[in-house]
Amino acid sequence: MRPRFRSSSLVPAGFVVDHVDVGADRIGLVVRSRAAETPCPDCHVPSRRIQSRYRRRAADLPLGGRRVELQVLVRRFWCDAAACGRKIFAERFPEGVLPAFARRTARLEQIVHHLGLALGGRPGAGLAQRLMLPVSRDTLLRVVRRRATTPSDPLSAIGIDDFAWRRNHRYGTLVCDLERRRIVALLPDREQATAQTWLKENASIRIVARDRGG
Ligand SMILES: [Zn+2]
Repeated sequence: MRPRFRSSSLVPAGFVVDHVDVGADRIGLVVRSRAAETPCPDCHVPSRRIQSRYRRRAADLPLGGRRVELQVLVRRFWCDAAACGRKIFAERFPEGVLPAFARRTARLEQIVHHLGLALGGRPGAGLAQRLMLPVSRDTLLRVVRRRATTPSDPLSAIGIDDFAWRRNHRYGTLVCDLERRRIVALLPDREQATAQTWLKENASIRIVARDRGG
């Protein structure tokens, strides 16, 4: 028996593909959730009564050397539960698939996060471009910062990068633990003196990589 190709196997779990638009360097996919009903975020009673739909854009993993843009058809539902104060709600997707307000799918964000940790801002963004991952240097570092945790063991090897607190606005310094691959500090500016003061307070550090690869 010949294996049957399903376009839904190309997109994140739970979505089906309604339309495909293949360009020279971009693939646009119109997708929607395959779930017939969605629970209200307030009362958790599922509803299948649709009020309206809107489109939400999200970048996804590249395909065949082309960057991929999802246009997600998001449904707004009526909440009919008598005791619930909410009338209308928009459907949400699992955090591990497409978090609320995210502009990238979770699986793309994970790759971006790995690139940021492994290579730092500028080299990471350069490689991302070649891999058809639509992400700027600032976005890359912002993703890393968002997933940062606090360290407990003394630091020994760190990487230092500039990052933007807001897109193209105020810049700070991001300090990354190269051994444990996580953010350890966010300094308020990118002045050398600030970084030096911070380094003095962390005497266990032996190796410092500045704007890795640069
Ligand atoms: Zn409700």
